[in-house]
This record gives sequence, C-alpha cells and structure tokens, in this order.
Amino acid sequence: MKTLFLFISICFSLVCSGQKPDLSYTLSRKDSTTLIIKVAFTGNATGETTLHLPDKWASQQSLYKAVSGLTALSPATVISATDRRDKYTVRYKPGTNVVFSYLLHKDWEGPLKYPLYFRPVINADYFYFEGYSGLVYPSLADTAHIKCRLSYEGFSKDDFFGNSFYANATDGKFTVSQESLLNAVFCAGKLRSRTTKVAGHQIVVALTGKLAFSDDTAFSSITNIIQAERRFWNEKGPEYYFTLFLPLYDQGNTGGTAHYHAFSLFQSVGLDLKSNLLPMIAHEYFHNWLGLGLKMPEPDEPYKWFSEGFTEYYSFKILFQSGLISKDEFLGRINGYLKDYYLSPYFNMAAQKLIGRYWESSELKLLSYRRGLILAFLIDSRIREKSQGSLDDLLRDLYRQSGPAMIFSNVLFSRLVRSYSDAATAMAIDKANGGDNSRLTKLLFIGRIYQADSLQVDKVFDLGFDWQASRKAGEIRGLEIASNAAKAGLANGMKLTDRLSVWFNNTSKPAEIGVVDKGKEKVIRYIPVLQVDKIIPQVKALK
Ligand SMILES: [Zn+2]
Repeated sequence: MKTLFLFISICFSLVCSGQKPDLSYTLSRKDSTTLIIKVAFTGNATGETTLHLPDKWASQQSLYKAVSGLTALSPATVISATDRRDKYTVRYKPGTNVVFSYLLHKDWEGPLKYPLYFRPVINADYFYFEGYSGLVYPSLADTAHIKCRLSYEGFSKDDFFGNSFYANATDGKFTVSQESLLNAVFCAGKLRSRTTKVAGHQIVVALTGKLAFSDDTAFSSITNIIQAERRFWNEKGPEYYFTLFLPLYDQGNTGGTAHYHAFSLFQSVGLDLKSNLLPMIAHEYFHNWLGLGLKMPEPDEPYKWFSEGFTEYYSFKILFQSGLISKDEFLGRINGYLKDYYLSPYFNMAAQKLIGRYWESSELKLLSYRRGLILAFLIDSRIREKSQGSLDDLLRDLYRQSGPAMIFSNVLFSRLVRSYSDAATAMAIDKANGGDNSRLTKLLFIGRIYQADSLQVDKVFDLGFDWQASRKAGEIRGLEIASNAAKAGLANGMKLTDRLSVWFNNTSKPAEIGVVDKGKEKVIRYIPVLQVDKIIPQVKALK
C-alpha cells in the first residue's frame, strides 16, 4: 500500500512539473456583453514579444474591434501599440512570467444571426467564441507543442463549461499547436448538455434556446451520427469531442463549422432537425475522411463530384442507416437530386471544365454535389445487385489503398468500381463526368435494387439571364436569346433598378425586372419558364 502511494506521488509530481504551462488563459465575466481574459506566458530571453489580436476570420474583418483594455499585470511589463491594429508589443524582464489582461466584447447589436457567430457572441445567458475571433496570443518559440492551461473564474456553479479541450469542469491543461488553439471553441453559461461515453471516448453536446425539437432528440441524433461515421470508417475518433448548437434569430439559415475536436452548429429557430441540420452534420463530419483524410489532387474542381457528391450521398445514407430518416425519406432525397441534376443547366458539362469556375454561380457549384450523389447511388445499387457488399466496402478499400500519399486517384477508383461492380458501371461514371449522361440514364432505368420510375417534365424555371452576374454588374448580363425574358423585351446592357421581384424555382409567378430602357424606367414582367421535354429517372422502394 505504501509503495503504491509513493509510486503515485512520484508520478504526480512528474506530471505537475512537466505540465507547467507555456501559456494560460483565465476567462471571467465583466458584464453581460464583456469578458475579462487574463493571459500568462513565460517570457523569452530578449524581453520582448509580439501580441496578436484577432483580425480576419471567415467572412469577418477587423475582429480586433472586439478587444480593448490591454493591461500589463506582471511587474515591469509594458504593452505598446504598433502601426498595425492587430499587433502589440509587450516588453518585460527577460525570462520572467508575463501576465496581462484584455476585455473581449460583443461588438455587434441584437440577437444572434448569420454570420455574426464568427465574432464573439457574449450575452447575459452564455458566451461563445472561437480562437480566431477571441484569443489574444503571444508569439512563442515552439508553436507546435504549446502546454496550455484554460480556466473559468467567477461563474455560477450551475453554468455549463465547454470548449475544444474539456467540458463540465472549470480548469484544464492540455498540449496543443498554435493552429489548433486558434481553431478551438470556448463557451460557458446557461447551456443544456449531455455527455456520452463509449469505450472511454466522450462526446459532449451542448445547446441553448427554445427549439423546435426536444433536447433529447438533438443530443441523441447528433451523437448517433458522429458514432455511426466513426464505426463506418473503423476509427475511434479523438477521446473527447465537443458539439455546440446555438439558435439563430433569423430565417432559413443552417450553418456549421468544424473546429479542433469540436463542431459548432447554428440554425434559425423554428427549423426542424431532419431537413437541414442532421444532413449537414453528417456531411461535414464525413469530410474528416473524404476531403481531409483522403485529399483531392489540385486543382480539385474536377474531383468535387467525388469529395462533395459522395460526401453528400453519405450524409443521407448515414442518417438512413442510423434510423434517423426512413427509406422513403432517403429515396425522396435521391429523387430530388435526380430531378435537380437532370434539369441543371450544366447537365452536360464535363468535370474538367469546372476548373476556375466552381464559385461562379450556385448552379455550377451544385453540379458536382448532384452528379456525385447520383453516381454514388448508382455504384451502391450496382454493387448490391451483384454481391453482399456495397459502396461502403469500396470506399473503405479505396481509403486503405490510397496510403501513404492519401491523394484520390481516379485510376484506383475506376479499378475498384470495375471489380466491385462491372465495366459498364465504371464506363457510365467516366462518361457522366465527361458530360455524357446517356449510359448513366440507361443504368438508372434498369436498376433492380429499387423500382425504376420516371418523371416527365415539360417546363422548368428559367429566369432567362444570369441573375448573379447581372446583380453584380447592375445591368442585364447573359441574356438567353430564346427565353421569355428576351421575348418580354429585356436586353443585355439594360441598367437594373431596385424594382426586382423574382420567385426562384416557381414556374407560375411572374418575374418583375425593373430596368432603364432608352432613358426611361420601366418594369418588365414575364413568366420565367423554359419549355422542355425531359424524362427524369426516379426510384421507388420495391413492393
Ligand atoms: Zn462538403
């Protein structure tokens, strides 16, 4: 017993001396919209260190505006401004412990909306910020292994505490790279949470607000998706993983950001879990393997059908496999994508042509998601017709065989498609990616896993000109000669006024486009449709 005690105490002291932090943060509250953050670090031999304030992150600029009151707390320490608003210099006695503090504010007004969560969110009830948006940090010699300590002080004991490193505690030590520290999340307050432990691996989910779904449903479905994807790839994941859900007080927005060992989720209050949030979690988490684990060659636009489209397919298949959506809901999604793909203005565009054009318009960007999802669905069905296996096995095989470079290879992929399915499937995939969908269509119509069905479409929404380019230029651009827009009198180069009314994807409501024509303002009205004659493959569950 005595030996055991001695052994433990030696270990303890070793751990303690080994864990003296290089950098520590103590978070406390000043008032309902301000935090006081105390920072301590070991000064270097020169006695001078640069302090970095948040600046640009995601769509946000000038994040240093949320920081004020930089104050030196250690003896003989002086902080001075530089010619950059996001950099300060701190001078101190060489080699001593340097301590300073700063105030972090909510520097925007009103309730949380997209995309304000990329700035510090500090309310009376809770606070949330990301390393990028809220941490002031010193330049350190070793940025790869920073021994950190993070504490919360003076909060109510009923508050929840959570971050990328630990939860349900007010103090923790960890070693992390500077990059991961900045990519971490930090929060505390009146949040509801659940911790799930599987084989020593913790998943913590925290949320707040009055939501359209029960806490239990959110906790269990988010945890289930993460666990299902880890099982899919036979990986245990990090020992600790944190997920935070914050409601947005706007309409129709769903967003999520993957962080260091954490996931931040945002959705407009009133929206349910199934339509957007759960598929988004499943999609983003799947990128840990398709996209991050297995990277695409550069330029990556010609491979987006795989990295985005297959990930999109699994965002629904994982939900279906986990019982979070029904088979009909799963097939409903597939049918929706089939319709969108077959009606896409870029249906016949080769993947190679996407280089440099991917972000040009949402239709161009979505082409890879739609085509890739349908190709994944086709391969999955074709493999299942032939064997006990599925696309799941092919993907795991691809992942294994892609090492050690872990760069996606179309040659390896095609070889696997031929061996798991057949040459006809591999050929249909290649042709579709080259812009020829005839073989794909034929195979979809003869599928035996689901009952093939079809949808006849005689008209599609067509505004008749390039909406985004026109809005950007302030004048009509990209007019289609045979469109209803042209027939109604719109012409390239006409200046736009602010009298614009368009019901996107609605084929019965007239579009109203205000323009200046020969010096006169007028509004041109027309039904934004294009006559087509398309037979679109659809699928139904076998009776
Ligand atoms: Zn994605």
